[in-house]
Amino acid sequence: MQILLAEDSKYYRTIMSTILEEWGYKVVVAENGIQALERIEQVNSPQLIILDWVMPEMNGLEVCRRIRASLERQYRYIILLTNMTGQENIISGLEAGADDYVAKPFNEIELKYRLKIGRRIIELENKLMHMAMTDTLTGLLNRRAFFERLEGEVQRCQRFDLPLSIMMLDIDNFKSVNDTYGHQVGDIVLQKVSSEINRVVRKYDFVGRYGGEELIVCLPGVDASLAAEIAERLRKSVEKLTIYLDNEDKKKINVTASFGYTIADKNTDMSNIDRQVFKADEGVYIAKKQGKNRVCRVE
Ligand code: GH3
Ligand code: MG
Ligand code: MG
Ligand code: MG
Repeated sequence: MQILLAEDSKYYRTIMSTILEEWGYKVVVAENGIQALERIEQVNSPQLIILDWVMPEMNGLEVCRRIRASLERQYRYIILLTNMTGQENIISGLEAGADDYVAKPFNEIELKYRLKIGRRIIELENKLMHMAMTDTLTGLLNRRAFFERLEGEVQRCQRFDLPLSIMMLDIDNFKSVNDTYGHQVGDIVLQKVSSEINRVVRKYDFVGRYGGEELIVCLPGVDASLAAEIAERLRKSVEKLTIYLDNEDKKKINVTASFGYTIADKNTDMSNIDRQVFKADEGVYIAKKQGKNRVCRVE
């Protein structure tokens, strides 16, 4: 696990880094509070943080307050490092949002176990977060998580003047899969189609479960011609997918899906994202009316 060590004293930085590395942590160091915040802002930054209280530029207490005030979703477990162990000081540390504190000069074994607690809390928080965001059947983002992420993506595309495509798909005649093979098999089909879609999209794209057998895909930076290509690729990949049932009959199932998509660019009011989603949905509706297993763009 990564750990951020924010400590202005070179002496403490060196001995702590050495010990932490010995314990198997990957140590990221910061020499003052401002640097600590910069490290945290980077992608894949440490969730476990040791913050020295007294540091130049910005002290540990203020760093702690800022971390708690930010709206980021992943949890940061913060241990304040201090030689100020008066009770009032401890209270202000906890008030600022620290999870724990360790007094300097520190006891190695104590630090080791306090870090272990931190790791356990982080793992639990991550698991909870994952559960809250994931659709249990398909493993895709659930509707709420998808739209939360979409909001951020829309802002990013607006800032960098990039187009953004929203695509929706609905499995064709899915009710008859349920009726013929039963609901459990229907679930398996839904899972397989979901992982196929997730496999075929690019790594910047993300997929959510919009409703029962309806999936939604966000494709950042994708213009009209690329969207047409991707939609067609997705359509074919569903069509080609064969789902084998491991019962005696050695039955196999093939399904198709109907796709709708729309492109938002600088000429579109991207902030009205519901409107874009509505258009993608309308595309699905038209594709169904035109005979299913096809792609329809709505401008
Ligand atoms: P169309 O081609 O017009 O989309 O026809 P359809 O049969 O797919 O559409 P319809 O809306 O009539 O039926 C959707 C079916 O999807 C009905 C519902 O029971 C099924 N469904 C929705 N969610 C799930 C699920 O989680 N598991 C299973 N097995 N079935 C589901
Ligand atoms: Mg200090
Ligand atoms: Mg449907
Ligand atoms: Mg359907």
